[in-house]
Amino acid sequence: MATTLISARDLAKDYSLGGHVVHALRGVSAEIAEGEFVAVMGPSGSGKSTFMNLVGCLDRPSAGSYTLAGEEVARLTGDQLAALRNRRIGFVFQSFHLLPRADALSNVELPMVYGGIPRAQRHQRALKALERVGLGDRHHHRPNQLSGGQQQRVAIARALVNDPSLILADEPTGALDSRTSLEIMALFQELNAAGMTVVMVTHEPDVAQFARRVLRFRDGKLTEDRQQNPADAKAMLQALGQEQEAA
Ligand code: ADP
Ligand code: MG
Repeated sequence: MATTLISARDLAKDYSLGGHVVHALRGVSAEIAEGEFVAVMGPSGSGKSTFMNLVGCLDRPSAGSYTLAGEEVARLTGDQLAALRNRRIGFVFQSFHLLPRADALSNVELPMVYGGIPRAQRHQRALKALERVGLGDRHHHRPNQLSGGQQQRVAIARALVNDPSLILADEPTGALDSRTSLEIMALFQELNAAGMTVVMVTHEPDVAQFARRVLRFRDGKLTEDRQQNPADAKAMLQALGQEQEAA
């Protein structure tokens, strides 16, 4: 039996907006174990980002309970939330969120600067993380000297560098072409096979097919929770390569 990493019980989140209340989440319960690869789907406005903000310890619920690795998030102060986030979670965004004037290595070192890790060790760990995402030879490139797929790899290296329990990705392939998306999904599957828990928001079934579980939201509620046999991104990439050679 795998260890529970995330446990959400009757999670609710209300926003007050111009004098009335928006019920963004209306009682969501779900457990995610260590080592899962989950796609979070649903139409715009269904509560996906609100759910991810809670899972990512960026926000606290209005009601219900949320624990990450056994810690009750609703009870934590802002500083404690930030510390938990820095230690446990690596974030990956649609638009990469890299510092434009810093090279790949400095971008990957950033979460360790906040973590107070000595310079030499930061350097070494950042290099290792860049190697892990296939960019060992690009560490002195700035974002504008890298392709979109390479920039997303730098962002993934940055997400990995504090050795988190969880990678949280919000539309990680939203800004990428389909081949590059496939490469990023192959990397996520490789990290997941090595034990990393991945939770990823996507509205594209083509991307969700690589996850092993799908959570679907509608009107602030969880309407579907299913396991699936994931497609193999690496095999699909190899098939693409052979097609191009034959053409
Ligand atoms: P999704 O990511 O699935 O598109 P969201 O979680 O962003 O959905 O939003 C869910 C609902 O909550 C929507 O009706 C949205 O308008 C509302 N909402 C989200 N954030 C806020 C906020 N900060 N203030 C007021 N309403 C919000
Ligand atoms: Mg959203």
